[in-house]
Amino acid sequence: MKALIVGGGIMGTSIALELAAAQVEVTVLERSLPGAEASTAAAGMLAPQLEAHAPGPMLELSMRSRTLYPAWAQRLSAESGLDVGYQACGALQVALTTAQAYELEATVAWQTAAGLRATFLTGDEARALEPALSPDAVAAAHFPDDHQIDPRKLMTALTAVARKRGITFRAALVRRVLERSGRALGLELEKGQLEADVTIVAAGAWTSQLPGVGVQEAHLKPARGQLLELSPPTTAVHHLLKAGVGYVVPRAGGRVICGTTVELVGYDKRVTDEGRAQILAQAQALCPGLAGATIVDAWAGLRPWTADGLPLLGFGHLDGLVIASGHYRNGILLAPITARLVAQLVTGGRPAMDLSPFRPDRFGGAAG
Ligand SMILES: Cc1cc2nc3c(=O)[nH]c(=O)nc-3n(C[C@H](O)[C@H](O)[C@H](O)COP(=O)(O)OP(=O)(O)OC[C@H]3O[C@@H](n4cnc5c(N)ncnc54)[C@H](O)[C@@H]3O)c2cc1C
Repeated sequence: MKALIVGGGIMGTSIALELAAAQVEVTVLERSLPGAEASTAAAGMLAPQLEAHAPGPMLELSMRSRTLYPAWAQRLSAESGLDVGYQACGALQVALTTAQAYELEATVAWQTAAGLRATFLTGDEARALEPALSPDAVAAAHFPDDHQIDPRKLMTALTAVARKRGITFRAALVRRVLERSGRALGLELEKGQLEADVTIVAAGAWTSQLPGVGVQEAHLKPARGQLLELSPPTTAVHHLLKAGVGYVVPRAGGRVICGTTVELVGYDKRVTDEGRAQILAQAQALCPGLAGATIVDAWAGLRPWTADGLPLLGFGHLDGLVIASGHYRNGILLAPITARLVAQLVTGGRPAMDLSPFRPDRFGGAAG
């Protein structure tokens, strides 16, 4: 069987590896370098509990992926000989007001009832665990099983392993999905065309821009996120820390990644003065010790946002077309499970979980 994959981000590359393991001949079409977009812009939190608002299909998908992560990361590291920056650091969701503390209590209650490890801490208990935390922190929820990986290191290792296993990466701009009589035949490229048994679209925030995919821009579009890297903080940070959209992610060596913004501003990857100021204020509210740190880097990436917050995962509107996109703020976390589920679909197996909540056609009206 032959498969074409549009997009060499974490989704396209992870799917390629899983398919190659099932003896599928895979070509990945990437107009830039593998991992050039959201997949190397991410903070790398593997944190379903920090992100979850309620039980449901997204939490189930995320938990399954988190469970796969340690062995997946270890395999990629061993096979590539490269460090992927996986750190079992745990996470603290922080309340800076009493109202937020009540919300955290409720979060800990439903997560514990759902069988997840979560503990409600007073401000003092949270500071005993994470001394860098602000004296203004009223309370925190501790999620000891939410961790992190370094997305840049991960993409380097993933791509190296994919090449080692014989996956072809072709530098090409894909123009459209080719169709005949309701079946996807392959892809039209800027120069020439390619045919295959199955065509997989993993083009991140650009998925809705590709003619023939059948996904409309109203349902999948870019959401810009800006990040800052700070060094050296005056205080060491040990856990993922989050309050609202603000977060601090400690990297090995003492640097911290601070985020973020969520901006629906089209395909604009600029870092702005407002974004920088917002992120610094959020980070310093969590850890006042970061006030003295130097900004060593600043960047932005485009998350594939979807209208209902769930990824688009499954068969598209044409036979032989599979879509794996729209992973929004959790694509690094969701890569191993997405790759496994797509491989099960493509090879005719039974997917390990119910994919109906993620059906790419759930919004109706294929755009062509
Ligand atoms: C600031 C920020 C922080 C984030 N933090 C986290 C986090 O902490 N944890 C987490 O799990 N997730 C995080 N994410 C989300 C995560 O990065 C994304 O969900 C994930 O990277 C999406 O992967 P992808 O492969 O679908 O998309 P991308 O990495 O964007 O890859 C899509 C690829 O398709 C290519 N492409 C598009 N159109 C075409 C075409 N026509 N022809 C050829 N190639 C094409 C692009 O060049 C690109 O390389 C964050 C994202 C951002 C921006």
